[in-house]
Amino acid sequence: MNMTLGPNAKFIGVKGGRRQLNTPALLLDLDVMDRNIATMAAHAKKAGINLRPHSKGGKSIEIARRQVAAGAIGICCATLGEAEALAAGGIENLLITSPVVTPAMIDRLMALNGRSRGLLVVADNPDNVEALAQAGAATGQSLALVVEFDVGQGRTGTTSVEAAAALARRIKSSAHLRYAGVQAYYGHLQHIQAHADRKAAAATQMARVKALLDHLKAEGLSPAIVTGGGTGTFDIDPDGHVYTEVQAGSYPFMDREYLEIAMTAGGSSPFAAALFVQTSVVSANREGLAIVNAGYKSFATEGGPPVVTRPELANASYRLMGDEHGGVAYDAKSARLAIGDVVEFLTPHCDPTINLYDRYHCVRGDMLVEIWPVDARGR
Ligand code: PLP
Ligand code: MN
Repeated sequence: MNMTLGPNAKFIGVKGGRRQLNTPALLLDLDVMDRNIATMAAHAKKAGINLRPHSKGGKSIEIARRQVAAGAIGICCATLGEAEALAAGGIENLLITSPVVTPAMIDRLMALNGRSRGLLVVADNPDNVEALAQAGAATGQSLALVVEFDVGQGRTGTTSVEAAAALARRIKSSAHLRYAGVQAYYGHLQHIQAHADRKAAAATQMARVKALLDHLKAEGLSPAIVTGGGTGTFDIDPDGHVYTEVQAGSYPFMDREYLEIAMTAGGSSPFAAALFVQTSVVSANREGLAIVNAGYKSFATEGGPPVVTRPELANASYRLMGDEHGGVAYDAKSARLAIGDVVEFLTPHCDPTINLYDRYHCVRGDMLVEIWPVDARGR
């Protein structure tokens, strides 16, 4: 067996190979993903906003490369480990969107900063900025920081305009730090069901960002970069004229949560599902119920159940039945599932699901065309 590509390598290029895979397997439809990447790139270009896609979901050097080739100015990472993995693949202009605070991780950050061009990291705390300034002095490096400003999520970020400005001042006055910009990410708004409500909530937060920018300008601290936004607000983020770049991450893949929201109230999405989990029926001894080999270990399920993709099973429902098992209840009058049958699912939430797999099985139609590692898996 090819240890890098796994047991499905033998199906690459085989006609109908997609149907023969060892399962559970993570599938990526390259035609759809490339269209999603091109669609977002065209949207950003038209809106006059830069795109720095988030790789917290994809965790993939190859996908980041395609996003950069389509015009992205860089890539966001949720963790230091993701940034290390993408940097090893030659991806530049990485923005780490969470603070790096512990001594051991600051050591790694400085090492990465020494070998990764255009690295940016967010900070939201003066003690952290002090520690980073000392690390910069100790290593003789200059580190570029982005001041995070909380826009209602209540997660990371400075919690007032004054605190954000004070942090920016502190960074600017340090010989070994560079004040690169501001991050204002409203993740809590991404999944608001109705587009009009999402838009109104984002407008409120963008007004707060505008107030921060006015304050910073008055102090001579206008940021070069203002970064935020996501797949749920991609068509709203440019409206406030506060962001210089958007950080959307889920759009290459899409998932049930995002597609359901997009379709709310007769809406539509320019992005289509490209990510699936392929499973096999391992037991089928009851009418209208098939047991597949995918449970808690194959889907992140905090976003509800996965959805069967086969049209003739449109009314089927999936139920978790353990770590390695799921039940597919279906109408036995319209379909028949037997052991060995293939059942593919749309994932509930793409990001944590991808992190459960070592590899993407890249398909075009019925053909397995490539196998890519999930490079930053678990990092
Ligand atoms: N930016 C940050 C800081 C995030 O945490 C996330 C996702 O959680 C994103 C961007 C990408 O958002 P989305 O998955 O909505 O595209
Ligand atoms: Mn997510």
